[in-house]
Amino acid sequence: MGWECYSVDQTHDPALTSWVPSAQGHPDFPIQNLPFGIFHRVDDKDDPSPARTGMAIGDYVLDLTACHDEGWFTGAADRAGAALAAPALNHVMALGRETWRAVRTQASALLATDSPVYRSNRRLGDHILVPMAEAEMLLPAMVGDYTDFYASVHHATNVGSMFRPDNPLLPNYKWLPIGYHGRASSLVVSGTPVRRPRGQIKDPKADVPEYAPSRSLDYEMEVGCIIGVGNALGTPVPITAAESHLFGLCLVNDWSARDLQSWEYQPLGPFLAKNFATTVSPWVVTLDALEPFRVPATARPAGDPAPLPHLTSPEHEARGGVDLTVEVYLASARMRAEGTAPIRLSRGRVADLYWTPAQMLAHHASNGCNLQPGDLFATGTVSGPTKDARGCLLELTWRGAEPLTLPSGERRTFLEDGDEVTMRGYAEREGAARIGFGECRGMVTPA
Ligand code: MN
Repeated sequence: MGWECYSVDQTHDPALTSWVPSAQGHPDFPIQNLPFGIFHRVDDKDDPSPARTGMAIGDYVLDLTACHDEGWFTGAADRAGAALAAPALNHVMALGRETWRAVRTQASALLATDSPVYRSNRRLGDHILVPMAEAEMLLPAMVGDYTDFYASVHHATNVGSMFRPDNPLLPNYKWLPIGYHGRASSLVVSGTPVRRPRGQIKDPKADVPEYAPSRSLDYEMEVGCIIGVGNALGTPVPITAAESHLFGLCLVNDWSARDLQSWEYQPLGPFLAKNFATTVSPWVVTLDALEPFRVPATARPAGDPAPLPHLTSPEHEARGGVDLTVEVYLASARMRAEGTAPIRLSRGRVADLYWTPAQMLAHHASNGCNLQPGDLFATGTVSGPTKDARGCLLELTWRGAEPLTLPSGERRTFLEDGDEVTMRGYAEREGAARIGFGECRGMVTPA
């Protein structure tokens, strides 16, 4: 399966409306989106329902198992019944893109204002919709392996110039997507508190390191890519097939302890500075939903090398990019106590990344490494060419040299206890309905 079989269809029609009133004009979850997630009901604490697959529609979660059990799904969507009832998306994802598309397309028809099922039963929603306030969202997938990339050339250049002013960008950067293997066990869903890590810190003026709470805790605004279908060990994935392995995208906060990082990272790269917690948004926006927002892969500046043949194709150049906007907001404990709204720290564009999701996936499998359903890879910090597009505090405050001032008058170089970081992401363009990811949120608690 290549690129050619996907296109904009009736599910993306900006004129499409739903009988779920809050879906109309919803900034994240209109009927044109329909992202997948794993939820359980928490309205009845004595009888919590089992975790299962849902879809976001307006302010509700559509219970896909309930829809299936009513017999409203046909074909591939009907055959996905047992997988939809599982407490992680891995089983649905392993069934392949035809199945994901069928579920989304049939859910769209069911939720549309002209749905025959709805016309024959106006109380339909009582049975298959759960208010988001009564649903607890869980991690969307059982993530076996997590890989973090470094796909923003702006981030790589900024960070490189702080640590290696003479040589900011290493010679391999423009030839392959740099990454490291992260840790899956410490992935947490949005809303989970994040405890300030302790670790070895070596002050440049001190002779020896100390073991202490991190004093330079940071976030990294990233986009997550969730593998739907794996590849056999020893069998690379051609770039032309890469997207048929990719289920969808989510938001990721790669919390980073910069003081631990600077002492430990040589020679083998990030380790304990990164693996104490990584926050993931609960809703996975499928590539199908993102069809209207595909753009050419980022044009390389004159003089940059062309990607090697296994990392490019004409189709990839034409539409390998995704035009997403990602934003980071911060609210300190004092700001919340004073009723001050979170302040936006940055706004970046995924289309500014040097490497696309398909290139990261094809590179990851190019040595025969087997990807599996539910594997997560993240893009690395999404930063742009301007200061307001820097996706972490390390860059925004230039390693602490240029502190930020919050509306409360507080100053920040790195995160303080009680700070809450919220990331948001969305896609919008003329002629399409805006769709979004919801939020990826976490509050720092004391060490
Ligand atoms: Mn990262």
